[in-house]
Amino acid sequence: MELKDALAAIVGPTHVDPAGDRHLQDVTENPPGHAEFVVRPETTAEVREVIVLAAERGTPITPVVAGYNVAGLAIPRNGGVVLDLTRMNEIVELDREAMYVVVEPGVTFAQLKSFLDAEAPELVYTYPFAPPFTSVMMNALLDGLNNLSMPHGAMGKWVNGVEAVLADGDVVRTGSGGVVDRWFSRAPVPDFSGLFVSTQGTTGIVTRIALQLQPRPAHRRRWLAFAEDLPSAYGVMRALARTGSFGDCGLMTWPAAKQVFGATRDLRKVDDEPFAYLMIDITGASEAELDSRIELGKQILEDNGIEQRFDADDAARLVPALAKLAQLPTTLDFLLDFPGGGLTWVGSYGPGDRWVDGAQRGLDLLVEHGFPPFLVSRPMDGGHFYVLRFVANFDKGDPAEVERVRTVMGKLADAVLDHDYVPYKPSADAARRILDRADPGFVRLLDRVRNAFDPDRRMNPGRW
Ligand SMILES: Cc1cc2nc3c(=O)[nH]c(=O)nc-3n(C[C@H](O)[C@H](O)[C@H](O)COP(=O)(O)OP(=O)(O)OC[C@H]3O[C@@H](n4cnc5c(N)ncnc54)[C@H](O)[C@@H]3O)c2cc1C
Repeated sequence: MELKDALAAIVGPTHVDPAGDRHLQDVTENPPGHAEFVVRPETTAEVREVIVLAAERGTPITPVVAGYNVAGLAIPRNGGVVLDLTRMNEIVELDREAMYVVVEPGVTFAQLKSFLDAEAPELVYTYPFAPPFTSVMMNALLDGLNNLSMPHGAMGKWVNGVEAVLADGDVVRTGSGGVVDRWFSRAPVPDFSGLFVSTQGTTGIVTRIALQLQPRPAHRRRWLAFAEDLPSAYGVMRALARTGSFGDCGLMTWPAAKQVFGATRDLRKVDDEPFAYLMIDITGASEAELDSRIELGKQILEDNGIEQRFDADDAARLVPALAKLAQLPTTLDFLLDFPGGGLTWVGSYGPGDRWVDGAQRGLDLLVEHGFPPFLVSRPMDGGHFYVLRFVANFDKGDPAEVERVRTVMGKLADAVLDHDYVPYKPSADAARRILDRADPGFVRLLDRVRNAFDPDRRMNPGRW
């Protein structure tokens, strides 16, 4: 049977199409790919049948939901079939007592937020700056950074377990849900969930994921504060993270604010403009707890020489353009609607004691290559590590600019590695740079896992 007919026999003829632009390229500088068909399964059983068919025929499989990973990670690199999982959008289970939710790949941030607001208002999930239509599961599997990552860590840590279809069609489970019918924890069984975290679909297609929820704090206050240089910004982030008393401290340098207000090119910082914006989230189980944390926060800002601080809700009311930064999930249209449509970055995690130098080196590289010094950061996991993410918008239609952005992203990946930072969600180029420097034992182990799971390298080919 022709591949198209065989796929249609599994998912129905209306859910198989020739692969088009939406699935062959993304917003980044990574070149377009090629694939024969896009297939949209609706159930784990259908995913399994597609995988078994692909295994029989040696067909490569590239999974995708929204395709907004900002690293070219869902662009099909070796033909075959794109597995579009947007139809698998069921919230399968909510456990209010054990505080977790089980979702399919196509469940979006907007969907999860409205579900929790209605069904479990005492609980919250955590949100990135990613668009509301992107996948909750992929953000967790890519080990992303969200607005509760300062106290609770990168998103891979929120995973209690998964159900996945392996390259040979075997359907497996990890975490407590692999043993009993409750997905309350990764402990105390051998921890296989990590086999699917940051592996970019190379170890299998995850069809369900159990994700931790957190209690919704009763009281909350948000500040917008201004830092004038990198050392004071780091000092505040470090102190806030280490108290364990604050929900978030996200940093963006001044080009972000210019872009929020509509500027696109030739960005220039004026003298009285802040160097960096800090979005600080303070919560409390009671008024008294909130008040004492507010006092602590004021002291920390003062100790680090930060004088300018505003109530974020007031600022958002006065300047509506800022409101989109305050309510997550949100669409950062100033990043997505840049003329020419190009958006890319090198994001990385690393140790605090190299943050100031690493940040400065990355900002210098951006400027040297003609891009504004746009940095995003936050402390992670109680201050155990930090984010350095260098962002560039560009015109996808201008080959010279695309080449320039490619060059600077390569240099940025090397620069963060030079400072002991490791790129997260690495593009193919960044992954190569990571593996070039990695301990040979790490590279051998990765190879052995991949040989065990996918010896033919058919699962999301071209990654790692
Ligand atoms: C403006 C903007 C801001 C962003 N801000 C943040 C942020 O603050 N924090 C953050 O962490 N991220 C951020 N992101 C990155 C990203 O959007 C999110 O992590 C998002 O949740 C990814 O979802 P997606 O649906 O786009 O994934 P996709 O790009 O569709 O998929 C991601 C990866 O997972 C693979 N994959 C797809 N389905 C499966 C499956 N079922 N099993 C295994 N592998 C699979 C794909 O092949 C790909 O490699 C941002 C993106 C944009 C555009």
